Amino acid sequence: AAIAYSDLEKLQVLGHGNGGTVYKVQHRCTLKIYALKVVHGDADPTVRRQVFREMEILRRTDSPFIVQCFGIFEKPSGDIAILMEYMDSGTLDTLLNKNGTFSEPKLAHIASQILKGLSYLHGHKIIHRDIKPSNLLVNNNNMQVKIADFGVSKIMCRSLDACNSYVGTCAYMSPERFDPDAYGGNYNGYAGDIWSLGLTLLELYLGHFPFLQPGQRPDWATLMCAICFGDPPSLPDGASPEFRSFIECCLQKEFSKRWTASQLLTHPFLCKNRRSDC
Ligand code: ADP
Ligand code: MG
Repeated sequence: AAIAYSDLEKLQVLGHGNGGTVYKVQHRCTLKIYALKVVHGDADPTVRRQVFREMEILRRTDSPFIVQCFGIFEKPSGDIAILMEYMDSGTLDTLLNKNGTFSEPKLAHIASQILKGLSYLHGHKIIHRDIKPSNLLVNNNNMQVKIADFGVSKIMCRSLDACNSYVGTCAYMSPERFDPDAYGGNYNGYAGDIWSLGLTLLELYLGHFPFLQPGQRPDWATLMCAICFGDPPSLPDGASPEFRSFIECCLQKEFSKRWTASQLLTHPFLCKNRRSDC
């Protein structure tokens, strides 16, 4: 049976994003817990566009590696809300701040789930465009990781559709997205998600954003120069050769040399750390 908005009781705020608020809610009849993302009717039109885009993508996706949507509400007041499964351990960002950096076997487990999610999305012609620790949700149950926040994602209509619009969190954007002309405007966009995944895993291993020193304040111009003109960041001494190679496959500056999600799923780093349960 469909869930009525009026049967949802707000328990607490889980997070704030650009214009929307995510609540932990309880369904009064079944007592089940969900997450509800609410964007108010008076919100900025850009924010409203983003939530409609997210609704459209969540409606189309059905994968254990992508946050599940249980309902969509549009109120007469103009408020829009998305009812999602509740992920009880928050995001990879909050886990990093709470528990510190992740070991290689944990990162392999995390990477393999994100890659299965990306492989599903890319197979359905969807580019996420905002992969980063705070958009990856975690369930404590066996460290399940799912991709969330499709506010700036893109559904490719034609296979050659260029994908160079300036959206997402700039720090995690790939070189070709800053400077599409340098690549002949000729890239397809999927590889940008792989770059962001590489930076995300590196950050979870190092404990800080790879292009900045610990505690260094981001200066936008310097950061963009480093991404476009510097060498890609790499692992420090002490990391295994397999992990080093995996990160290199993600952080190729030349997007055509970057591995795809399905290629990365066969990488030795994941095979070496594969657990019997995944
Ligand atoms: P925004 O577009 O505003 O960034 P997100 O979808 O990333 O929206 O959600 C914002 C924050 O809310 C997340 O970083 C996370 O802390 C929390 N959150 C979002 N969805 C869920 C969920 N399904 N379960 C638990 N927490 C969530
Ligand atoms: Mg977000």
